[in-house]
Amino acid sequence: MMTTKDNQSDSPMNPLDREDGILHITLAEGLVRGLLLTGTKTVQEAARIHQTTPVVTAALGRMLMGTAMLGTMLKGEQSSVTVSIDGGGPIGKMICVGDAQSVRGSVDHPGLELPLRRDGKLSVGSAVGSEGRISVVKDLGLKTPYVGQVSLVSGEIAEDFASYFVQSEQSPSLVSLGVLVAQDVVLAAGGVLLQPLPGCPDSVIDQLELRSPLFGDISRELAHDPMEVLMKGWFAGLDPVLLETTPLSYQCHCSRSRMEKALIALGREELTRMIEDEIDGAELSCHFCRARHHFTTQDLIRLLNKATQ
Ligand SMILES: [Zn+2]
Repeated sequence: MMTTKDNQSDSPMNPLDREDGILHITLAEGLVRGLLLTGTKTVQEAARIHQTTPVVTAALGRMLMGTAMLGTMLKGEQSSVTVSIDGGGPIGKMICVGDAQSVRGSVDHPGLELPLRRDGKLSVGSAVGSEGRISVVKDLGLKTPYVGQVSLVSGEIAEDFASYFVQSEQSPSLVSLGVLVAQDVVLAAGGVLLQPLPGCPDSVIDQLELRSPLFGDISRELAHDPMEVLMKGWFAGLDPVLLETTPLSYQCHCSRSRMEKALIALGREELTRMIEDEIDGAELSCHFCRARHHFTTQDLIRLLNKATQ
């Protein structure tokens, strides 16, 4: 018989206490590969940095998690992926960058407010728009980056990533991405990606589609149970195997020296204008982490000399 104490230790942790990470799994004896992503803290950090409204938190959060999925599938430590979505909606353009274990992102209009949809959900599709494209640039450390672009389906992000996987990478994919926001707090955020591999029988694919409603509202599920528990329920009978778990966090790799390179790249004319116009030097703010870097007039003159060479 269970004592009260046991019950307490068995009860699910507060989702905000759980670490973010990605479970790499296979189903059906390796015929399906999957990524199960917990991103609550990552999305909360994005919301804190950019001071986003709930609808923007949801849009940017979904996109960060989709980018993290692409990032974790990259080969090579130095590889990174940049995803941009510009759907013509009032949120403007969103850009996210991911690598093996971290993501960062920016959005044009973090303060956008839109009424909820009729079903009470956040109006992510209306905020993003569906007129443009989702573009994916993978920098694998080779001379030319891999570039893939497809038209947006709905601006709801998960469908758009799924369309990218099918059309650009020829990988039929089930994608679910969700962010649960109350006031300004991210209660839970997560995503599921399932990709049947060549040779996967239709019966298994039918099973995946049949079960997709189970993780259709993934953030609500994650608000109750951790991913390891959810996985066993969703994929019971499909032989789920956990291959590895990789960490995930919101991290920017910007630095003063990178900012200097960006300033030098502006060229002589622009640097001269900055030196003449700004009495007190220049302050640059990173689009991804909002870190501010101050450059005095003397700094700018030094960079101008480098630009000349
Ligand atoms: Zn930064």
